[in-house]
Amino acid sequence: MRRTPHAYVDNLMTGGALGVPLWGLISVITLPLMSGQRPEWSAEQMRAHFPALLGWVLFGALLGVVTPGLSDLAEKIFGPRSQALPPASGEKKRIVILGGGFAGMKTAECLEQQLRTNRSAEITLISETNALLFTPMLAEVAGSTLEPSHISTPLRSSLHRTEFIRGRVTAVDLENRKVFLAEAASQSSTGRLEVPYDHLVFALGSVSNFLGMSSVEKLAFNFKSLLDAIRIRNHVIEMFERADREQDPLLRAPLLTFVIAGGGFAGVELAGALNDFARGILADYPNLNASEPNIVLVHARDRILPELSESLARYAQEKMEERGVKFCLNARLSNAQPGLVILSDQEIRAQTLVWTAGTAPNPLLKTLPFEKDKRGAVKVDSPLAVPGYTGVWALGDCAAITDANTGKACPPTAQFAIREAQIVAKNIAAQLRGRPPTSFHFDSLGALCVVGHQTACAELSLPFLRTRAVRFSGLLAWLMWRGIYLAKLPGLERKIRVLMDWTIELFFPRDIVQTIDLQ
Ligand SMILES: Cc1cc2nc3c(=O)[nH]c(=O)nc-3n(C[C@H](O)[C@H](O)[C@H](O)COP(=O)(O)OP(=O)(O)OC[C@H]3O[C@@H](n4cnc5c(N)ncnc54)[C@H](O)[C@@H]3O)c2cc1C
Repeated sequence: MRRTPHAYVDNLMTGGALGVPLWGLISVITLPLMSGQRPEWSAEQMRAHFPALLGWVLFGALLGVVTPGLSDLAEKIFGPRSQALPPASGEKKRIVILGGGFAGMKTAECLEQQLRTNRSAEITLISETNALLFTPMLAEVAGSTLEPSHISTPLRSSLHRTEFIRGRVTAVDLENRKVFLAEAASQSSTGRLEVPYDHLVFALGSVSNFLGMSSVEKLAFNFKSLLDAIRIRNHVIEMFERADREQDPLLRAPLLTFVIAGGGFAGVELAGALNDFARGILADYPNLNASEPNIVLVHARDRILPELSESLARYAQEKMEERGVKFCLNARLSNAQPGLVILSDQEIRAQTLVWTAGTAPNPLLKTLPFEKDKRGAVKVDSPLAVPGYTGVWALGDCAAITDANTGKACPPTAQFAIREAQIVAKNIAAQLRGRPPTSFHFDSLGALCVVGHQTACAELSLPFLRTRAVRFSGLLAWLMWRGIYLAKLPGLERKIRVLMDWTIELFFPRDIVQTIDLQ
């Protein structure tokens, strides 16, 4: 892990959180295996492992604070004396990053590191939203476990040297090297509308792709942004309120039926979270009974979670079915009408439809003459530059990237976007210094997916044995999910807030306060 100087409490929390997956891997799996036993994660066994968990968390926290402390001390005593940076000579190079998601934010952060002694370049980040959304926890916002703002880290507080402009990019003039922003809502605004660049980084992410079904686009909820998750949560509560005073069971059923299209990670995590939420709030609605909430997951293939191995995907489905989620597999969503979801083989009466079944790269890219793949993502070369356009780079969900070592297409995930950002920043800095670029290569670390109450599936790659993966599921995988993602969530304050939300969730029922008026 890269050290953040003087961020001792943040390092302590990150180290402590990483103690959880280490506990799982070493105490629960490796040590029993080495002594010839099968790893067990029954409730009884987990209780026996609990003291080791405390030990690992304390060890992680201590390591997290002692090592950077010693490094800082050593640097202070033996390190080079800090020198005032020389003033920049000549014209400054302007690096402009479009998009403040995982790819854009990490590019800015790494550029700040790469160029910390170079004042001849200035970095600007332009984004529609002023915070980085931590999407792996989005389902928990929709399921009312986490407060919405707790999973978003303000870009301004994470970046120190980068100029941040909150605005929507409407066009890019590649010939004159300028980015155009939408006018601010206020007529009297005198904000900048044009931003010139020398290096331009496209990190604009993706949008939902409704595959040309305009009725579905009109009626379905998206599940990509914080606002989408807030809307879904409020809508679910609204449906419960209306169902509670509805006498006719025939009219009540569609109010309490929630259809989720797409059986990938986002759809499965949302189905699990909504199922827990719906069943968890039943106690507040005395006129409804436990058999009434109906969460339906529609998926076009014969099994969910194609990113995981078949055995884990089947386990996820079985666990979710046990908890009341229904599955329509090998079924395509073909149309939607108010109160009706139409599949290839049946119709479901439902007032709620959430779309997670397809994404397409940001539509702004359609206006640019770059070469694109069939999804519409910008094709880049191995150092992640756009061929034929000097100083233009693309990464993350809006780029079509091939791994330089394996030749395989890189998946559109945050895990990859972050590593791509490190290479883009390194290559921009190399170009400024007249050095050769580095090609992009990254071996996936694996995948984790929460399927509902204290249950997850994990498939992790082993660092020295990339062809083999460790698979496990249940409570252990869920604890690992929480430990890993808490450690990855940027910012100490956000980590504490999320930890508090999770602690509150253990003791109190889900919050059913409606926070926005959906009308
Ligand atoms: C529900 C959900 C769960 C997920 N879980 C995981 C997970 O567990 N692990 C994992 O690795 N990946 C996960 N992903 C995928 C991951 O979120 C994406 O791969 C990642 O966000 C891609 O990063 P990005 O920076 O390319 O795009 P984004 O994060 O989408 O960022 C795009 C940025 O561009 C900005 N933008 C867009 N258009 C404009 C414009 N015109 N002008 C200015 N700014 C603009 C947006 O505001 C945003 O800040 C999940 C995704 C979702 C939706």
